[in-house]
Amino acid sequence: MKLFEIIDKTWIGDFGRRKSDIITSTDPDKIYVENIRAFFGGSTRMAKFLCDLAVRTGHFTKHIGFECPNCHSIIKTIPYTKNIKLSKVKCSLCEIRDEGDFEFDTSKVDKIVFYRLKEGSHD
Ligand SMILES: [Zn+2]
Repeated sequence: MKLFEIIDKTWIGDFGRRKSDIITSTDPDKIYVENIRAFFGGSTRMAKFLCDLAVRTGHFTKHIGFECPNCHSIIKTIPYTKNIKLSKVKCSLCEIRDEGDFEFDTSKVDKIVFYRLKEGSHD
């Protein structure tokens, strides 16, 4: 078997079967490396490797979330890229609350990488 097939039949399959367990603790639209690490055990590095492998095999998609420095909610998500072209992000929560600062340079806000379970890969 090819490496990808083995992984597909092992951990992704297992992930799919145990989805109901995960759902109670994890949003399948926001899977963090830490969720995978906690779920399968092992190191963060291994979990990251599995996540990126799942992207390459078409099971996950990879995204970047921008965190508002004021209220710490994720205010914008974009498909993962090494070159972020977006220069500013706006927090509508802080805008509504009249917090003063609600528009931020993307270079100055915390970014978090997360994954999304692709539709159809977990039925
Ligand atoms: Zn905010």
